Amino acid sequence: MIQPQLHFTGQIWRPPYEANSQLLQLTSGCTWHKCKFCSLYHGTPFRMSPLSEVEEDLKVIRRWQPRARRVYITGANPFALSYNRLMDTALLLRKYLPHMESFGMFARVTDITPKSVEELRNLHHLKLDSINIGMETAHDPTLDKMDKGYHSADILEQLSKLDEAGIHYNVFYLNGLGGQGNGVASAAATAEVLNRLHPCIINIVSLTIFPESRLHQDVIDGTYQEAPEIERLVEMRTLIERLTIKTNIFGHHISNTIPITGALPYDKAALLSEFDKAISSFPEQELRAYRKNIRHL
Ligand code: SF4
Repeated sequence: MIQPQLHFTGQIWRPPYEANSQLLQLTSGCTWHKCKFCSLYHGTPFRMSPLSEVEEDLKVIRRWQPRARRVYITGANPFALSYNRLMDTALLLRKYLPHMESFGMFARVTDITPKSVEELRNLHHLKLDSINIGMETAHDPTLDKMDKGYHSADILEQLSKLDEAGIHYNVFYLNGLGGQGNGVASAAATAEVLNRLHPCIINIVSLTIFPESRLHQDVIDGTYQEAPEIERLVEMRTLIERLTIKTNIFGHHISNTIPITGALPYDKAALLSEFDKAISSFPEQELRAYRKNIRHL
């Protein structure tokens, strides 16, 4: 018997904690596609799945996973879709998967901007309960240099709206993004903004430059100097040291030379001590060799 297939286009990414979620494509590629360091959706132009296609996929899911409790919507930033489109999708999810308890997706900071708190509350009411945001840093000079398309004030304003609407969110911090000499400033600026917000998880990923990114060319041209590995550890330590909120740190991504996880503030002292040990004992060349061997994120 031929198995019915779901529609998926290009590279599919989801956070590790969504491993048990049913995936559903709503968009492919990224609406922005300009961040200098990014190679994640290389070669995949932005596309919005027609609702008929989403419905077709939901019929397949209903058949094979009728009791799916969590759905993760794929695409770099499906939250860029209009409020009405997201509401239509949420209603379809409710129609086809009555046991679904929640759904989530990736978003850019700027995807939240056109949505009012009331609209966000309505989406939350229809079970949108968490959004993953590639914030990268709240250091404005780095955000500008990397063409992220927003500033720290936007992060604060837009994520505060999620807090107000009761939608949980997790952020990604891109360690080392500021380049050589800017790590501590990037971490400090980010901690200052995050201390005024309520992220459930801060995912820490360390910048690993692949040839498909524009930043790779900057490295070749000599206009961007990568942060040394020890400097990156000091940066991560600074971020954790300066965070005063209750949150979770997930730093066990393959790109991190020293994998760490913990809950703040409870594990802060232990995490800082792990960094201190690593900073004083690991040679730069060894850590660099590890990064050079990373083939894929
Ligand atoms: S980092 Fe995110 S927003 Fe930027 S181009 Fe890549 S997928 Fe798009």
